[in-house]
Amino acid sequence: MDPQMRGGHAETDPNARPSPGISRERVKGENMARKYIDCREMPSENNCDLAMAGSEEHVLNAAMIHAVTAHKHEDTPELRQQLRGALKDEVPAALA
Ligand SMILES: [Zn+2]
Repeated sequence: MDPQMRGGHAETDPNARPSPGISRERVKGENMARKYIDCREMPSENNCDLAMAGSEEHVLNAAMIHAVTAHKHEDTPELRQQLRGALKDEVPAALA
């Protein structure tokens, strides 16, 4: 006979993890979340067509520097938010 109580409430079973979507255990080195930003989609006066791709942090940093140096923007949290909003998940084959 099984001495453990086995009622209908088995939801605290530590082995039962119904949400595999958040696990990032597959590290293959080239499956990083690369982002892409295209300056043509940002409001600018000089018809800039620069595009950058890479991990989100790097693209964001590069885009901030670019926005400040090439577009005379100010380095503000608002600008960073704006750039972050312009990031895309799809990296074109030419940049991937
Ligand atoms: Zn630009």
